Amino acid sequence: MCHRLIAPLVALLLVSSLSAQTPSTGSGQAGPAPIVYTLTFANAAHHVADVAVTFSGVPAGPLQARMSRSSPGRYALHEFSKNVYDVHAFDSKGKELTVTRPNPYQWDVAGHDGTVRMTYKVFGDLVDGTYLAIDPGHAHMNMPATLMWARKLEDRPSRLTFTPPAGSNWKVATQLFPTSDPWTYTAPNLQYLLDSPTELSDYKLREFTVKNPDGKSFAIRAAIHTDSPDSDIEAYASGVEKIVKEMVTVFGEYPQFDNGNYTFLADYLPTNGGDGMEHRNSTVVSGRGNVRNGLGTASHEFFHAWNVERIRPQGLEPFNYEEANLTDSLWVAEGFTQYYGSLIMGRAGLSDVKRSVAGMAGLATAVINGPGRQFRSPVEMSHLAPFTDAARSVDPTNFSTTFISYYTYGGAVALGLDLSLRDKTNGKVTLDDYMRALWNAHGKPAAKQPGLVAKPYSLTDLRDLLIEVSGDRAFAEDFYKRYMIGREVVDYARLFQRAGVLLRARNAGRAWIGDLRANQDSPSRISNLQAPGTPAYEAGLEQEDQITELDGKPVTSLQEIAGIVASHKPGETIAVTFKRRSGVVQTSKITLKEDPALEAVLVEESGGSLTADQKAFRDAWLGSKQR
Ligand SMILES: [Zn+2]
Repeated sequence: MCHRLIAPLVALLLVSSLSAQTPSTGSGQAGPAPIVYTLTFANAAHHVADVAVTFSGVPAGPLQARMSRSSPGRYALHEFSKNVYDVHAFDSKGKELTVTRPNPYQWDVAGHDGTVRMTYKVFGDLVDGTYLAIDPGHAHMNMPATLMWARKLEDRPSRLTFTPPAGSNWKVATQLFPTSDPWTYTAPNLQYLLDSPTELSDYKLREFTVKNPDGKSFAIRAAIHTDSPDSDIEAYASGVEKIVKEMVTVFGEYPQFDNGNYTFLADYLPTNGGDGMEHRNSTVVSGRGNVRNGLGTASHEFFHAWNVERIRPQGLEPFNYEEANLTDSLWVAEGFTQYYGSLIMGRAGLSDVKRSVAGMAGLATAVINGPGRQFRSPVEMSHLAPFTDAARSVDPTNFSTTFISYYTYGGAVALGLDLSLRDKTNGKVTLDDYMRALWNAHGKPAAKQPGLVAKPYSLTDLRDLLIEVSGDRAFAEDFYKRYMIGREVVDYARLFQRAGVLLRARNAGRAWIGDLRANQDSPSRISNLQAPGTPAYEAGLEQEDQITELDGKPVTSLQEIAGIVASHKPGETIAVTFKRRSGVVQTSKITLKEDPALEAVLVEESGGSLTADQKAFRDAWLGSKQR
């Protein structure tokens, strides 16, 4: 009842306090006053931006201004407040207000008159998809690393005006909404604003148009900032076009890009970090090599325009900028994207069959032999993202033996599911059908506003859609239980065989001690953690142990150790003497196993011949779907 009485009054007050500024985001409705940002780059040579932000219509009580702790698509905390300094706050009359710090990420401003204008400097010198980079060549901005925002005003639209350094040739590339002023852009809400990386530079623009079945067309743009030769820029742009036009065949249509277009923000310069970061209507793709080598990244990132930006797992929606974000499903969001990134490179003719198959087999073998599978399922690997995705810590972890990247693990699940569906239905149902079902159920339904997703999916949604798409409840439930939430692996060797690929032991019959590595200065001291289940681990050997004697012979290097192991057969037991880091000398017995290393070879390259069935299976899997 209170709501009913108060709501119209509040709306009236807000409207009457509005200035002439209304957000030009297309709705045409008068809403609350936008948050107004100005970003000035007079200090670009020092990697510093000067930012001013005006919050008006601020509710009573202190304004709580924040820097984000996280960034969409990156799962560790990055504490963007660390590079913010010289913070000041003023009221509507220009009177300076006191700023207090309740926590490391926040600036509280009390005693305001409904308007707070804040000014600050922010430093940034890393070009990638997560941070901020400013120099005379460009301002490469990830917004969580750049913009201060305010609690309780998350639904407000914002308006940004950029002022480039005097004499620069910069122009703007962004998914933000344009206005009649080429330096001013808007966002409908905080979720969209922080999801909108922006590049100011003298980039080269390449553009093409794509069309949906309903006749609606979209511009796909590549804003390319690089010192690579023009011929490579052209090769990149044409590769991007091939990828985009092949990828849409998986889903049957392009997403409704909110601003009518999608932008690849490509940055390839010698000091850059290598990265690819997905956003709703754009992606940041960066690296230090030639732009031409960035097509694999572009392929992965464009798949995200459907998978994760719109087919979005619960836990990421809406994205929480105050905490690390946890989801069960990065093995789908990243892993299935990893699989399709490679698959589409092959289907688009940018990678040959041999390379595609090698990549697929690499996913499978890393999971088959990955020690981490003894402890964690794909779901549990996803839970580690806040500690593994560009995360920094001082204390050691044993992730090298207990973690498998959800990119790899999820890619292997996607591969296993695609081949299993093709195998059991003779190609009538494939992973493409499953992705399309996910799209229709979870990606396509329109949300209230750009930047939001209406129907994020859960693990059980994934299972239920697999039941529907496969038309086989028993198969789907078994696959879900064993390979998605469980830690088993499909029979990749049998499934690969259907496509004329042999997955076999690389060193059949050869004895193996485990994965021992050493440093040059101490060539018989183990430098890596030993994985449970390996002969070395079972014998009690661990990182920093120095092996002094094996099979009764003194040893001083890994080569000598390898030579002794090679002279034995799997199953044989040999004595080992080693010195712990404490100085204690111990002896033990190692029971050697067969080398588990696998390799994938095309049947026609290993003395066999490809049958007609195998060729048909392989072509349907790896061939172009464009008519
Ligand atoms: Zn990704």
